[in-house]
Amino acid sequence: MPEALAPLLAEVRRCRLCEPALPLGARPVLQLDRRARILIAGQAPGRKVHESGVPFDDVSGERLRRWLGVGREQFYDPACFAILPMGFCYPGTGAGGDLPPRVECAQTWRLRLLRQLPALELTLVIGQYALDWHLPDAGHATLTDAVAAWPRYFPALLPMPHPSPRNQRWLKRNPWFEIEVLPLLQARVQALLA
Ligand code: SF4
Repeated sequence: MPEALAPLLAEVRRCRLCEPALPLGARPVLQLDRRARILIAGQAPGRKVHESGVPFDDVSGERLRRWLGVGREQFYDPACFAILPMGFCYPGTGAGGDLPPRVECAQTWRLRLLRQLPALELTLVIGQYALDWHLPDAGHATLTDAVAAWPRYFPALLPMPHPSPRNQRWLKRNPWFEIEVLPLLQARVQALLA
């Protein structure tokens, strides 16, 4: 029997494990319900999401919702989408953009939370950190290689680039992702939400 979800979520939301390393303090941002059939496995909240406490409440989220073909109402229905980034709190920003998610977070919480998703049918693995965790033995040299290997994993899992505006260049270089993959993803999402 999995542990009860409500006390587990309350425990996560009280977590202060790596707070000394977090520039704005701990504010875990996640969304989970046992009925969810789609998991969004992302990176970590940015500053804007830290302030709102709402996952993907930013330009990355706008693009992700377009990619999925869903509006905010469905996206924020936890019975439709579980949203579990690799780190639940904003890790800060360095010269190259947001810092990596805190490793303590997945080590502490991820397996316990994934056990709460018995209805899961599709995992969207977004960005390198989530790829390293969800496909540890895949052996892809780059994120592009992993995304290009999508037919190997779909329809149970889809490796994806991060929808951040910082990835605009990647999307321009790899137009097949939006042309070939997204229509299939949108059809799969609609089928799972129907
Ligand atoms: S990032 Fe994760 S481990 Fe660190 S304080 Fe937030 S919830 Fe806890």
